[in-house]
Amino acid sequence: MNWQKRFDELNNERFGGKLPQYTVETKNMNRFFGMCYTIEKIIFLDLSKNNDVENTLLHEMIHAEMKRKGYHRVSHRKIFWKLLVEKGGHITDIDKRVFKKSSVVACERSK
Ligand SMILES: [Zn+2]
Repeated sequence: MNWQKRFDELNNERFGGKLPQYTVETKNMNRFFGMCYTIEKIIFLDLSKNNDVENTLLHEMIHAEMKRKGYHRVSHRKIFWKLLVEKGGHITDIDKRVFKKSSVVACERSK
């Protein structure tokens, strides 16, 4: 799978092509399946042990979408999960365990 190309496809299909261009790179990370750097416009994906990389990519794209829409915080909170589901993604068990009940921003850096 060419995840850079998939980014473009999902951007067109689900975001009306409105997301700015991000560089999508793969990298082994200890704790996360994905990271979204909204200033540098880079999405990192860890392909190891992840059987739903597409959902991870979409998840990271929601951070990008929140940045695009001008949200001050692009972290995991109600509006984040709402947008994810709206765009055809789903909330994984890991999300529920790690992110949903906490306000800790774990998988992105917005400044
Ligand atoms: Zn995230």
